[in-house]
Amino acid sequence: MATTLEGNKKLQTLTAQTYVNEVYQAVEKRNPHESEFLQAVKEIFDSLVPIIAKHPKYAEHNILERIVEPERLITFRVPWVDDQGKVQVNRGFRVQYNSAIGPYKGGLRFHPSVNTSIIKFLGFEQIFKNSLTGQPIGGGKGGSDFDPKGKSDGEIMRFTQSFMTELCKHIGPDVDVPAGDIGVGAREIGYMFGQYKKIRGGYEAGVLTGKGLGYGGSLARTEATGYGTVYFMQEMLKDNGLSFEGSTVVVSGSGNVSIYAIEKAQQLGAKVVACSDSSGYIYDKNGINLNTIKQLKEVESKRISEYVNAHPEAHYYEGCSGIWSIPCDIALPCATQNEIDKTSARMLVSNGVKAVGEGANMPSTLKAIDEFLHNNVLFGPAKAANAGGVAVSALEMAQNSMRLSWTFEEVDHKLQDIMKSIYKNSVNAAEEYGYPGNLVVGANIAGFTKVADTMIAQGVI
Ligand code: NDP
Repeated sequence: MATTLEGNKKLQTLTAQTYVNEVYQAVEKRNPHESEFLQAVKEIFDSLVPIIAKHPKYAEHNILERIVEPERLITFRVPWVDDQGKVQVNRGFRVQYNSAIGPYKGGLRFHPSVNTSIIKFLGFEQIFKNSLTGQPIGGGKGGSDFDPKGKSDGEIMRFTQSFMTELCKHIGPDVDVPAGDIGVGAREIGYMFGQYKKIRGGYEAGVLTGKGLGYGGSLARTEATGYGTVYFMQEMLKDNGLSFEGSTVVVSGSGNVSIYAIEKAQQLGAKVVACSDSSGYIYDKNGINLNTIKQLKEVESKRISEYVNAHPEAHYYEGCSGIWSIPCDIALPCATQNEIDKTSARMLVSNGVKAVGEGANMPSTLKAIDEFLHNNVLFGPAKAANAGGVAVSALEMAQNSMRLSWTFEEVDHKLQDIMKSIYKNSVNAAEEYGYPGNLVVGANIAGFTKVADTMIAQGVI
């Protein structure tokens, strides 16, 4: 009997794998040039095989075919005038991916690399991440190929106003609620909120999150993604008899996520020895001085290379990937997608890394993830580990609706609870579907279930 059951299970898995492969091939055929998007789809689809095998209803309702197609993809022209009086033109994007469980929610990225593939990969991942937070938010993402580096305040304002002049037709507190991401911080959100208010009239505080504290922003939103990543990893480490206390940590990037991941890791007793920007990285064997990093990056907008001027005992190295050759117990990639490839993953493993927590979105390639999992490195995937930012954004929306604001401690406490429950749900789903300890599978399945069941409940729309 047991053998027949085993046999049936194997057959179901094989059939589910064939179905998933077929849908993936169709996605590939339809989106041939979108490599980042295809990478994200492959990672998610592969880990959904066990749930598709167990519950044929998802295949019967064509959930994969439907969930992978955005409800709406908007692209638009963003003309603006630079400080020399010349007209510049950028491209704006918003993908409204899935609204099964709530209004579209996801950040805006301003970076020259932004294109349809990047926006779709981020939007697709956002569906599952937002579901994992337990908050009622759907998945979306947007941005522009505008490069904020080296632009004056006036140029940033004129660009963001032009961007919002079009975007405001498509968003609203109950429709779609953008936030920040790479290149979009409090200043950009402020200008966009002002322009939205001017065009639409009324005071719809809940239309954007990541706002300034004076006009509806939430305490602890700035810290949320970085802190949340560390809270998530803290749970994972604890479950495996480890902790941040006394550990050596490497964090890539030196932006919003990195700075607050470093801050929380240091508060928990870790020694963070390296961080980076897109030009290079610094190594400070005594532990990096976060005040210097904050001053350089948050106040003066300078390059990380300048750190060594204040700390001559530290070293600066050109290029980004070398940061993964630094021996560490815990690695927190918090910069950008595909920053850890197989070679970097191998270096980390051979230097004895025990845990990797993804603060950035999709920072590890599929081969790098395999390398970590095969070598029993504890791996916290982005969707789960960096969900703290959007979770606190949802708390900001809740505060805006209630017209009140919670204290830093209240929000931080809720964030910790959310990260703990994301960790627990991911662990349980991984176990239930036969992949104990594999949180890539666990997080994807846990995020998928609620959205897929809701899509079935809401009919073919
Ligand atoms: P920021 O723009 O604040 O910072 C990005 C940082 O990464 C900068 O220091 C940038 O350097 C650096 N960087 C860019 N490319 C590389 C590279 N190839 N190697 C090393 N460093 C690099 O962005 P965020 O901190 O907000 O976002 C970082 C990541 O976290 C992104 O993947 C984002 O999608 C993700 N994320 C962010 C959330 C948030 O709440 N902000 C929420 C969830 C995920 P430089 O200044 O030279 O460009």
